[in-house]
Amino acid sequence: MDPLVARMRPFGTTIFAEMSALAVRTGSVNLGQGFPDTDGPPEMLEAAVAAIMGGRNQYPPGPGVPELRRAIAAHQRRYWDLDYDPDGEVLVTAGATEAIAASILALCEAGDEVVCFEPYYDSYAASIALAGAVRRPVTLRAGHDGYTFDPDQLRAAFGPRTKMVLLNSPHNPTGKVFTPSELALIALLCQQHDVVAVTDEVYEHMVFDGAHTPLATLPGMRERTVRISSAGKSFSCTGWKVGWVSGPAPLVSAVLRVKQFLTYVNAGPQQPAVAVALGLPDSYFDGLAASLRDKRDRLCAGLADAGFEVFRPEGTYFVTADITPLGGTDGVDFCRALPDRCGVVAVPTQVFYDHPDAGRHLIRFAFCKRDEVLDEAVARLRKLAAA
Ligand code: PMP
Ligand code: GLN
Repeated sequence: MDPLVARMRPFGTTIFAEMSALAVRTGSVNLGQGFPDTDGPPEMLEAAVAAIMGGRNQYPPGPGVPELRRAIAAHQRRYWDLDYDPDGEVLVTAGATEAIAASILALCEAGDEVVCFEPYYDSYAASIALAGAVRRPVTLRAGHDGYTFDPDQLRAAFGPRTKMVLLNSPHNPTGKVFTPSELALIALLCQQHDVVAVTDEVYEHMVFDGAHTPLATLPGMRERTVRISSAGKSFSCTGWKVGWVSGPAPLVSAVLRVKQFLTYVNAGPQQPAVAVALGLPDSYFDGLAASLRDKRDRLCAGLADAGFEVFRPEGTYFVTADITPLGGTDGVDFCRALPDRCGVVAVPTQVFYDHPDAGRHLIRFAFCKRDEVLDEAVARLRKLAAA
């Protein structure tokens, strides 16, 4: 008999772990899991070394070290004109992943419904299931205008049991940046139905076309939004697992109540280093976006040349592509066979849907890699059309 609790049985090993292990086993170029292959800003790395050597190796305070909470608040004021009190409205977490899990566990009763957009980041479904809550997915469909959803499907997803909207913009895996009118509709529905928004904005500094607008900046939304971000993406340190939550004090204190029993605290010496990184000049954040924009263009062009239909992303680390022109029908089969066929790893996105048919033909490539790695991947993928 499976000792695992029933609510977790539908969840196997994450696709990211499976695909990274496949890349290592087959010596493939890994454009699957989204992690950069270069280090973040040297000022931040040096600050972490100094913190370790300087004796900051014990438990930090539960909500996070004060200089990091102050830096998180200052950074949001600087970029988004959002004001949060570092004492009570900001909480440091073990990555965005813990922030998401703690928010859902803190705010949803069993049977409450969570509206989210599919394909969704895989931890959403698992965290909703752990809370005994129910997900109400709204489908993002790939088309000539990128990924869009049917506003009527969104309206219909809200009902008497809706407790939360979980919004990820810029969006993984599609690279979609939600438009002002889409955000306005989400905000309107949250207010009409008295629903809390949890916004996963880990790609806030990776927007190439258009602009990122935090949902919390829309009228009436700051008081009902739990805003989440993370150092992993903004500072190329995905292994540090330093994330944070900002929001009105009652919501943040509810999240802290759960978070303290998940990890209590984490990343003592990295926390002051992330504070340094958040204070870097605009040139750092502009440079990060510019470098990723070039990489996006490089990989999109290469994938199109290799025969894929490419859905050009507006933000994030990721581009999705249709495998149909290359004779593929099922992304999972395609990605499992890809290392043997040409030595490249990608991620099938159908595993991020409740309605996998909407994404069966789509796969995701990460472009947060050195140019020579992207070029090598494209050279290998070109063999597919020839085969
Ligand atoms: N949300 C999204 C949309 C992600 O892509 C990721 C992966 N970085 C996370 C959350 C998790 O972030 P972290 O590594 O900080 O836990
Ligand atoms: N966020 C990363 C991605 O989407 C991976 C995170 C993970 O492995 N859980 O690729």
